[in-house]
Amino acid sequence: MVEMELAGAAERLLASQKPVLTVHVSPDGDAIGAMLGLYWLLLEKGCRPVMVVDDSVPAVFQNLLGAELIKPVSEEQLDADLLVVLDASDDGRIGRVRQMVAPGLPVLNIDHHVSNTGFSEMRWLDVRAAATAEMIAQLADYWQYDYAKTGVAEALYTGIATDCGFFRYANTTPRTMRLAARLLEAGVQPNVVSDRIETQPVQTVSKLANVLSGLEMHSDGRVALISIPLDQYDPETDSDSFIRYPRYIEGVEVAVLLKSVAPDVTRVSMRSKELDVSAVALQYGGGGHKRAAGCTIPRPLDEAKAVILKTLSEAIDNGL
Ligand code: 5GP
Ligand code: MN
Repeated sequence: MVEMELAGAAERLLASQKPVLTVHVSPDGDAIGAMLGLYWLLLEKGCRPVMVVDDSVPAVFQNLLGAELIKPVSEEQLDADLLVVLDASDDGRIGRVRQMVAPGLPVLNIDHHVSNTGFSEMRWLDVRAAATAEMIAQLADYWQYDYAKTGVAEALYTGIATDCGFFRYANTTPRTMRLAARLLEAGVQPNVVSDRIETQPVQTVSKLANVLSGLEMHSDGRVALISIPLDQYDPETDSDSFIRYPRYIEGVEVAVLLKSVAPDVTRVSMRSKELDVSAVALQYGGGGHKRAAGCTIPRPLDEAKAVILKTLSEAIDNGL
């Protein structure tokens, strides 16, 4: 695998005429924001990029500039000369997009996950970047991109802000803030971005009340867990933010959100203060960052819960 920095990745991108851009399934603000930002940068450079995601674009990101151009997965074979995989740390994370391009197509992975598996021929990995969108904002600076379209800056700002908890998490650096400041100078209104993301339908808040009423404390109060059983799981309700509540309970080291997405499939999200939860997620085929990680366990909710609580309690006892 060829490891690249900003300049090498920039050069490789420009050598491509028809890149396909893609991101991980269940795309978040960073995945969508980074992909849209790169799309507009490359278009301005004379490339003809195409965006594909094996999932729907969450409603809160649908009004970002160009979101309607993101293609869903289909039988179509795309005529491409490069596959750019953004914000995804392993091969499986892009779902069926691989099947839409030629098997031997070169892959450039642009990512910031510490759990990155090195699955691509070329990789620009920056684990110090708070977001993949922060890397794309650096690329914009490198190319002296003029943010004439505020929408491009807004997509990148959305990616950066969502992945660093609006500049509160440990991954926020001076560089994160400097790049975000450039985006504000380009016309982004931070309150508009955050209101759009934080505003929820009343049903979601009712669901949250319900989920929080099932809060469980484990490992002497160091693990707080909430879960959404199968009969309450609704893919249309955005429950990703629910984990912030157990996370901020006094004494809690790790917060866990379990979602029963099918009878034998449980999605696990973890947030920690110090414990390396990406190492825990990796044990179950997932990944992520030191303090925010996830995995999918092919077991019913109760079994997945027992397994993850045991692993976490051991990890806490071992001081990992
Ligand atoms: P979340 O809990 O919000 O789903 O994910 C937290 C972080 O872990 C994100 O950076 C996300 O990309 C990563 N992550 C979550 N689930 C998985 C997974 O199944 N595989 C990998 N490789 N990363 C994951
Ligand atoms: Mn990210």
